Amino acid sequence: MTQPAVPTHHRIAERIARMGRSRGGLSHSLLVHGPVGAGQREVAIRFCQSVFCETGDGPFGACGTCRSCRRIPLGEHPDLIWIEPQLNDKDEPNAFKPRRDRSHKTSEKSSEKRGLRYISIKTIRALEDRLVQEPFEGPRVVGCIFEADKLQVDAANTLLKLVEEPPSHALILFATEFRLKILPTIRSRCLSVPLGYPNPQTLESYFMEEFDLAPEQAREAVQMASDADIEPAQALNESIQKLRRDSLALFDLAVMEGEHKFIPTIRNLKLDRESFCMIIRFWRDILRECVLCRDKGGLRLGFQAETPRLEAWSRRLNGPDCADLMDLSFEHEEAIQGFARPELALAAFLSEVRQRATSEN
Ligand SMILES: [Zn+2]
Repeated sequence: MTQPAVPTHHRIAERIARMGRSRGGLSHSLLVHGPVGAGQREVAIRFCQSVFCETGDGPFGACGTCRSCRRIPLGEHPDLIWIEPQLNDKDEPNAFKPRRDRSHKTSEKSSEKRGLRYISIKTIRALEDRLVQEPFEGPRVVGCIFEADKLQVDAANTLLKLVEEPPSHALILFATEFRLKILPTIRSRCLSVPLGYPNPQTLESYFMEEFDLAPEQAREAVQMASDADIEPAQALNESIQKLRRDSLALFDLAVMEGEHKFIPTIRNLKLDRESFCMIIRFWRDILRECVLCRDKGGLRLGFQAETPRLEAWSRRLNGPDCADLMDLSFEHEEAIQGFARPELALAAFLSEVRQRATSEN
């Protein structure tokens, strides 16, 4: 197989991949991010093919059949450095066969193993050494960093310097499920390439196959994992499902009742920082659904049971308000990941929701 299949919903990714061929105007760093099953790996391979293809013919600006295109998925192109987290990071980075990701199997053993995988500074120094050298064959030298959220802190800082002042022939592609776990200073210097969600059926069959789930479980996982930063394995967890229900209830209090109701509830939350972040993500999801609800678009699977509440919320919040609030939610999430007191950040965000919901529009 020379050209992996790319789900057809990746219009943005396709445009970006085409840009791999253009010499000027392209950012030196890209951040490809999206949920499991969205095709990050496929998009990265196509992107590299579009950089190195000898003809440039084909939907992604790559033919898939020339010598360069064929060598990319095999990891045999001398100007491509492909990095993924390693168990002990013993291996020197080398372009190796980009594999199909099977690291998300939900068995205990593999999740234990998964926790130990990281990308070390040694690996990134070696990448740096290669990126500063001239290309051997192609027009560029490309470094692909997979699961970039697993970069160790010193490795990420070293990369930051590379991203700030890249050699003119260098391209760096980061891929991650967790955009927010990438150093903000790196993120801001990358061209962001969000991968959309496949349709629910595609995702469901992916989950059934990849996680050995029954159809019902797969449907449930899709509902939850469709939120950008939640892993399917987490999505099936009862405490996370409770968190989601609590998030919906809090949002409802903000829109329909007022601060006297939601502030005491927030004050009583006993959660870790990551759970607070998750609440904000659930709210962002709700806001997106409010927009869909207003536009009479189909609600995503995970929200069909919430239709009456969503209709009530979307009568109070107009489209631009929802969009503003979604933007704001990213800031609050980052604040919580930083030094902000999570309870205060949540309360501030809901106050903003409350204001929008009660203003005349
Ligand atoms: Zn080609």
